[in-house]
Amino acid sequence: MSDIIKTRAIVLRKIDFGDTSRIAHFFTEDFGKLSLMIKGARSPKSKIGLIIDTMNIVEVVFYKKETSDLHLANQVDLLQHFPNTRDDLDKYKYALAIVELLSVLTVENEQHKKLFEGSVKMLSLINSSDENPKILFTKFLFFFIKEIGYEFQLEHCNVCNRKIQPGRSASYNYETGLMCSDCSEDRLTNFNFNEELFNLLICLNSKKNEIIYKQKDLDQIIIMLEKFLSYHVIEFKGIKSLRLT
Ligand SMILES: [Zn+2]
Repeated sequence: MSDIIKTRAIVLRKIDFGDTSRIAHFFTEDFGKLSLMIKGARSPKSKIGLIIDTMNIVEVVFYKKETSDLHLANQVDLLQHFPNTRDDLDKYKYALAIVELLSVLTVENEQHKKLFEGSVKMLSLINSSDENPKILFTKFLFFFIKEIGYEFQLEHCNVCNRKIQPGRSASYNYETGLMCSDCSEDRLTNFNFNEELFNLLICLNSKKNEIIYKQKDLDQIIIMLEKFLSYHVIEFKGIKSLRLT
C-alpha cells in the first residue's frame, strides 16, 4: 500500500544513483527528514534535476511506502531559491551551516513544523537582508538547539538558583549548566562569560532585533554552542560548513 503525499521541503543534499537517477535528502514540513528517489534526474533535459539543489525550497509529491524508507518522487516544483546567498561566500557559508544542522541533527520521519518554518524563514532572511549572516546564524543556532530539545537556559544559576542579572558575569559547566560568578569561584568551569559576553548571550537568545556585538564574541559563542551540542550528541563533531573559507 502507498499513499500520495504533497509537502514542502528544503533540499539537504543529493547523491547519484544508477546511471540516470538521484536520491535526494530533504527536510520536509510534514515528515521531517526524508529521502526520495528521483528517476531520470541526471538527464540534461530533466527539469526536476535542476530544481533539486541544496538549500532550495520545493514542493514534493511522492508515493509514501509503508514498508520502505526510500520513496519515489512523482513531482517536484520549485517554491523558492536563494540567488543572493549563492553569490556571497559569507551568506553561503552560514546558509549551508543551517542545511548541515538539519541534515545531521534531525530525525527521519519526525514532523517538526516549527523548525521547518524557522529554517525557511532564516534561509530567506540570509538571502534578502543586509544584516551580517553570522549574527543571523547565531540566532538561528539558539532557536535550533531549543527546538531539538537541548535548551540553553540563561535565566538562573543552577547552584544557588538565583536569577543572573544581565550585566553580570557568569560561567558554564557541562554537568551543572549555568552558574553565577559567586558559585563558579570554586567550581570547574568549561566556559566563562564576562559581563559583555553574557549580555550578548541573553540578547541573542531573546527576540531582540537590535544587537550590538563584536565579531570575535559571536565566533566565541558559536564555538561554545557547537561544543555544547557535541557534549549532548556524541556523534556530532562540529559544523563543517563553517570551516569553509
Ligand atoms: Zn549561584
